[in-house]
Amino acid sequence: MSKAIPKSILIQGGRIIDPASHTDAIGDLLVTGGRIAGRGLNVTPPADCPVIHAESLIICPGFIDLHCHLRQPGFEEKETIATGTRAAAKGGFTTVCAMPNTNPPLDNEETITFVRTLAGKEGAVRVLPIACVTRGRQGIELANLENLAKEGAVAFSDDGAPVATTPLMQRALELSKTLGLPIIDHCEDLTLSAGGQMNDGILSKKLGLKGMPAVAEDIIISRDLLLAHLTGGHVHIAHVSTASAVELIRRAKDKGTSVTAEVTPHHLTLTEECAIGLNTNAKVNPPLRTEADIRALASALKDGIIDAIATDHAPHTPAEKALEFIRAPTGISGFETALGSLMALVRSGTLPMMKLIAALTTKPAKIINRPDLGTLKVGSPADVTIFDPEREWVVDLQKFVSKGKNTPLAGKTLRGRVIATIYGGRIVYQE
Ligand SMILES: [Zn+2]
Ligand SMILES: [Zn+2]
Repeated sequence: MSKAIPKSILIQGGRIIDPASHTDAIGDLLVTGGRIAGRGLNVTPPADCPVIHAESLIICPGFIDLHCHLRQPGFEEKETIATGTRAAAKGGFTTVCAMPNTNPPLDNEETITFVRTLAGKEGAVRVLPIACVTRGRQGIELANLENLAKEGAVAFSDDGAPVATTPLMQRALELSKTLGLPIIDHCEDLTLSAGGQMNDGILSKKLGLKGMPAVAEDIIISRDLLLAHLTGGHVHIAHVSTASAVELIRRAKDKGTSVTAEVTPHHLTLTEECAIGLNTNAKVNPPLRTEADIRALASALKDGIIDAIATDHAPHTPAEKALEFIRAPTGISGFETALGSLMALVRSGTLPMMKLIAALTTKPAKIINRPDLGTLKVGSPADVTIFDPEREWVVDLQKFVSKGKNTPLAGKTLRGRVIATIYGGRIVYQE
């Protein structure tokens, strides 16, 4: 892929939605030299400027994903920075935050530099590394968070597992306050969820699978909220999946605790019923929950109790997902179906379009303290997503760019599709 930035691109006649400037209006968007150069009805493009016709399409800031697994270094059979970022571009994402549960894990300056350098060379979009909270994700001693922040880490997480102990989380949150970066926690009491395969409830009993109870998530969230309140550090709750967690976060926000939270497209749109038939592609952690949880999560997103949408894109090889249900790894390949899934919430009236786009752009930018990203303000980096909110398409795994073909949406029809993605003024995906 050529890294040369074209002089200018004119995106013509679309519905421009930019939550950062409260804009929702028909107009043109001009990109020049990698920046947003003009927008509105009176944009004058230079002569011979290439044009993307966007009539009946939505033009918005490139999506920012706070939570994905690019699997490199160490698990290149599942995904690489090259394939993962191309899948992200196809899904409309121009910035992805990469989780550090690689091999070796991103717990020192060398590994952070490795990811940043490789992303610069082979990445289709911006990759911002998240560093480990503890050395080796072992939950024994803290990594050097100051040095990791200097090297470019935008957040810290032991994702895959929670920060193991209360004192470690307390100290990490104290440092989060000094550094101005969030601690992202995967909230799961491992002693309660041990051996769990799916949501704990009537269905898990019927299927004869060990359940992962909602309270296992809520316990660690409670710990983290108390510690964030005590320390003044910023905790970001990863992949919230329970209605009860929403209530905990709501109360903490009311008290002024520095907490933000994300929810995935799958936890917003799919239920535990997907596990019927023991489909390993619906096996995910936290597990898909119930209709009542979905409703609570969607209304929390609308109310701002949950701030952002993050994919938790977690690719695995077909062989791994072909294992029997209790042995298969957890995770869903999420980049390429995110928008198509989420548009169902807009059509049902659950979530206004402006809020959906904010949850994918301005909100995540704010969480990682990057107000320069996630906006179409003139002068901002030219990260732009153009999508057709009405386009119907069938999820065809053969057409997936990601190495991870693991999704319970295979064969399903979605409505809403990315038409083009521009990153730093270059077209990195076009249908
Ligand atoms: Zn996780
Ligand atoms: Zn994850």
